[in-house]
Amino acid sequence: MSYQPPLDDMLFALRLAAGDGALGANGLYADLGEGVAEATLTEAAKFAREQLLPLDKIGDRAGARFFEGAVTTPPGWRDAYSHWIAGGWNALAAAPEYGGLGLPAILNAACTEIWNGANMSFALCPLLGQGAIEAIEAHASDALKETYLRRLISGEWTATMNLTEPQAGSDLSMLRTKAERNADGSYRLIGQKIFITYGEHDLSDNIVHLVLARVPDAPPGTRGISLFLAPKFLPDASGGFTRRNDLRCAGIEHKLGVRGSPTCTMVYGDAGGATAFLVGEENKGLACMFTMMNNARLAVGLQGVALAERATQQALAYARERRQGRGANGEAAAPIIEHPDVARMALKMTALTHAARAICYETAVSLDRAKREANPALALQAHERAGLLTPVAKAFSTDIGNEVASLGVQVFGGMGFIEEAGASQLLRDVRIAAIYEGTNGIQAIDLVTRKLKLSGGAALAREIDDMRAIADNTADAGAMREAVAAFEAATSYMLGAEPRMALAGATPYLRLFALARGGALLAKGAASGEAKRVALARFFSDNLAVAAPGLAKCVMAGGASALEGAAALGAD
Ligand SMILES: Cc1cc2nc3c(=O)[nH]c(=O)nc-3n(C[C@H](O)[C@H](O)[C@H](O)COP(=O)(O)OP(=O)(O)OC[C@H]3O[C@@H](n4cnc5c(N)ncnc54)[C@H](O)[C@@H]3O)c2cc1C
Repeated sequence: MSYQPPLDDMLFALRLAAGDGALGANGLYADLGEGVAEATLTEAAKFAREQLLPLDKIGDRAGARFFEGAVTTPPGWRDAYSHWIAGGWNALAAAPEYGGLGLPAILNAACTEIWNGANMSFALCPLLGQGAIEAIEAHASDALKETYLRRLISGEWTATMNLTEPQAGSDLSMLRTKAERNADGSYRLIGQKIFITYGEHDLSDNIVHLVLARVPDAPPGTRGISLFLAPKFLPDASGGFTRRNDLRCAGIEHKLGVRGSPTCTMVYGDAGGATAFLVGEENKGLACMFTMMNNARLAVGLQGVALAERATQQALAYARERRQGRGANGEAAAPIIEHPDVARMALKMTALTHAARAICYETAVSLDRAKREANPALALQAHERAGLLTPVAKAFSTDIGNEVASLGVQVFGGMGFIEEAGASQLLRDVRIAAIYEGTNGIQAIDLVTRKLKLSGGAALAREIDDMRAIADNTADAGAMREAVAAFEAATSYMLGAEPRMALAGATPYLRLFALARGGALLAKGAASGEAKRVALARFFSDNLAVAAPGLAKCVMAGGASALEGAAALGAD
């Protein structure tokens, strides 16, 4: 199994998203400069290839192990994690006041792609930790920040995100975990959480859990959810962290993929209540958790890009070596890449990966602009754009991650189905990315019910204007123009649609958005004149964006038959 982080493509996507001159003296990333971006990614690629990649298959084979409340990570994990901390990789994006490097979201996004391409199971631990760090930075009291942030940022401690309960998955309004007030201002947590990634493990001395729970007099539904911080070890009188908190891991799941990462059932308050500290205000927990979830949603989108990239690299290498059938010039036993159908699969894999990367990097740059833009109106626009693009980045990238990994298996033929070849692990690993951090169905609902209406639809209108301008500047952009027009028509329909019709069309609408946006970004990249970019943009436009008018029909006319069909199945 091989993987070479595609630094040229990543830097190209970075520049495309940030604009010409972004790394120059007066640009958005003047503080970075060309050198820093390239050097950081080069070092990250080296670390990923040397430390994380060799453990990927080992993690899949050995899996995480549970015994009497303790979780052991696969062989080699602990060592790699200590190198991870020593290399300072955990601190990349965090606030400098607490020891972070304060690097922009775009560089962090590119590194996230690299870690996940090398070893998604390992990368999941810092991925969640980073979201927790952001939530604590943004919402916790100074005292909590002082106590926990430095060690979380360095990676000495890790963090988790505890939302899911057996009866509360997509629907967090059904959460039951209780938080009772203590006289000293702390709380006691009592309840059970399931599916908690790295809820228990042997990589760090302490694990800081961010937990959603309800205070006794909380209003029902999502308006009554608060966010708490509950460490595995609490501070003692001498400032050490030796007091075991009343929380434990009751078991880990046996999974289709990401087997190296423990997925834990966590029990809080067996002995009266786990000591916890409020983050933000009571009953405002969901908003705090969204700080973390938005970060994590983009990161999960990047998992889709990363595994798609690796599946494509592996499939291309195999297709150049494997010989079957007559080639283009009639020679026997030609490399299978010469067969138009295999070449089409390889191109589809590459084009989808590039489009998803472009969308994810645009999202990351919008997050940076929202923070760095001096003009408040432009900062707000960037903030809205990040919000609009996040569900598209998450759902499209992970959907195509699945499609591309599956095509990868197909390119390998029978070997694709055999574990040794490595194509099947990618398919198994990437499957979860379309499910966690809000299923892709929930992303589509977020897009049509909340994001579409940002600033009365102005955020989306700006997006359409930008795509149209690119299509207008592109030669032979017939299919692209049609895709943008189809997206525009579906958008006006969605803005006025009856709510259940809008929900029925949400998933095809998100796909349509991504095809139009992704196609426009590839077309913009093709303006560089580089043969590969031109070929990919053309392939995407002629073979993938052409689905746009059909998807628009599905959004506008398919909703009724979906709802009527649901009634016929007895599902309404
Ligand atoms: C490996 C793994 C790691 C995980 N890590 C974490 C973690 O660290 N922390 C954490 O808190 N959770 C974690 N989860 C949980 C994960 O986030 C949930 O599984 C996910 O949010 C979906 O919830 P659910 O499983 O209850 O599915 P359900 O909510 O029951 O959904 C089932 C299906 O119904 C659809 N659906 C549900 N509601 C609606 C609706 N209103 N409209 C349309 N469709 C709907 C969904 O899209 C889905 O297709 C993890 C899960 C796994 C498997």
